[in-house]
Amino acid sequence: MTERDPALDWLVRDLRSHLRKKPKRLQLSDAARYAFNLYETNTAPLPSADMACKAGCGSCCCSQVGAEMAEAFAILRHLQDTLSVEDFEALMGRVAALAREVGTLDPGARWELQKPCVFLDPQSQSCTIYAVRPIACRGYNSLDLNACNLSTQNLDHNQPIPADGERMVRAHQLRQALAEVTGKLMGRDQTVEHLELHLALVSAEQAGTELAWLTACKRRKT
Ligand code: SF4
Ligand code: SF4
Repeated sequence: MTERDPALDWLVRDLRSHLRKKPKRLQLSDAARYAFNLYETNTAPLPSADMACKAGCGSCCCSQVGAEMAEAFAILRHLQDTLSVEDFEALMGRVAALAREVGTLDPGARWELQKPCVFLDPQSQSCTIYAVRPIACRGYNSLDLNACNLSTQNLDHNQPIPADGERMVRAHQLRQALAEVTGKLMGRDQTVEHLELHLALVSAEQAGTELAWLTACKRRKT
């Protein structure tokens, strides 16, 4: 049996302790916001002299991106707080259309489509939800722009891309912690599987509210 990562236990405890002071109806999105902040505070400032990622470089945003449901609720909350009702509905229409097209593809087939994430601005090639982008996007990185370009030109999802492993590990730990905390809020002692980003957003919107989603999950359990 593999030994459990002590950092994961610490993160789960820290997230749960943070949630004790938060209203129940927003616990999922608050957990994700807290996890985003933990990543930015503890990981983003790590030395990165060799990092190839720069603002305006968004070709990796055609990849299959996974998200925890807590992250999907945090993104929805951000969109509802910042967009008009009309703009929100139009955007969610595009999210649903892309979810139907790519939501269940394997990562290789998703990459071959070269269809960017709905949140990538086509002109600036920057992320329009940068403050609440999923942890998977935060952790993904490259030390070699040429490797990224080759992967795009050859539509080769298996192109090796040298990366800063510490960032990826920390992102993975945070996602795992979020999934475990979500499981505990659902009354389960197990993690909740993550979904493709656009699919997760559709599920979150269909549920209506975070509490309604948690209640439906608890009912399915019993
Ligand atoms: S991973 Fe590659 S394509 Fe994505 S931002 Fe970094 S350098 Fe650019
Ligand atoms: S959420 Fe932002 S960073 Fe992540 S894939 Fe979409 S556009 Fe790129």
